Amino acid sequence: MKGMVFNIQRYCIHDGPGIRTTVFINGCPLKCFWCQNPEGQSIRPQIFLNKDRCTGCGRCVSACPKGIIEIFGGKSRTNRDVCDGCGKCVEACPNEARSLVGRWVSAEEVFDLVKKDYIFYEKSGGGVTLSGGDPLAQPEFSIAILKLCKDNNIHTAIETCGHAPWKTVKEVLQYVDLVLYDFKHMDPEKHKQYTGVSNNLILENVKRICHELSKPVWARIPIIPGYNDSPDNIESTAKFIKELGKSIQQVNLLPYHRLGETKFERLEKEYPFSIEPLSEEHLTNIKKIFESYGLITYIGG
Ligand code: SF4
Ligand code: SF4
Repeated sequence: MKGMVFNIQRYCIHDGPGIRTTVFINGCPLKCFWCQNPEGQSIRPQIFLNKDRCTGCGRCVSACPKGIIEIFGGKSRTNRDVCDGCGKCVEACPNEARSLVGRWVSAEEVFDLVKKDYIFYEKSGGGVTLSGGDPLAQPEFSIAILKLCKDNNIHTAIETCGHAPWKTVKEVLQYVDLVLYDFKHMDPEKHKQYTGVSNNLILENVKRICHELSKPVWARIPIIPGYNDSPDNIESTAKFIKELGKSIQQVNLLPYHRLGETKFERLEKEYPFSIEPLSEEHLTNIKKIFESYGLITYIGG
């Protein structure tokens, strides 16, 4: 079973308990304005262009079988709609200005890497986390990795936006010990405006995960200034999460930062959401609201 991943990071400490290997799986049904991993949104390899390294020599233009690269303003420019990720332009570039992100790998290859750190998982209470993108975007592949981990006594977690048919969610969660579940906004319209989809299915799924499956859940909330940090929305989010009951083990507030900006540049896309990060004081006040609902709350993952 093969699937596409855009990164595998070992020794992670913010994606669930203990020391973990995080596998970033391509594909996501949402298009959040503040996305930190835009290179993982679709299930196809992406070209990263480092403009500082590009001298405009044009070798990539000649190398591209689809003829979709041109030189503009002394730098290369790619029509990404028809790029199939063949990588010929990467090989041709003498300055390493181009790189390919996203590759097809088998579940066994992923597991071979994951199992190398078994001793760290054992000692720290860690394991593997499938993130993305979203692991529910390639459910068969995710299941294949998770099954291998479970068969070998490795703790499993997924980080998901939860926007998938319930059947898919339920099938994948058979092999998952912990769910890191994202909450963006409680208002369906605002949710759609900034992520591309309504939150109806997402909220319905998390209720079923908690009430029908009784899976442990960590609620993950990106705090985006001017979008979801109003007292009203924070109160409604805290209330909703509290009503999910005992499945909720903790809440992680993830402050907005601009690390995704460079990635948007490398994908030759405009960064749609450049705002200043939150103040410490504002974050602390938000944390207090969650705590007032009796929720164990941390700033950070
Ligand atoms: S990856 Fe292939 S198709 Fe895409 S721009 Fe490079 S050479 Fe062209
Ligand atoms: S081959 Fe590399 S340096 Fe030359 S134009 Fe293409 S990206 Fe720029």
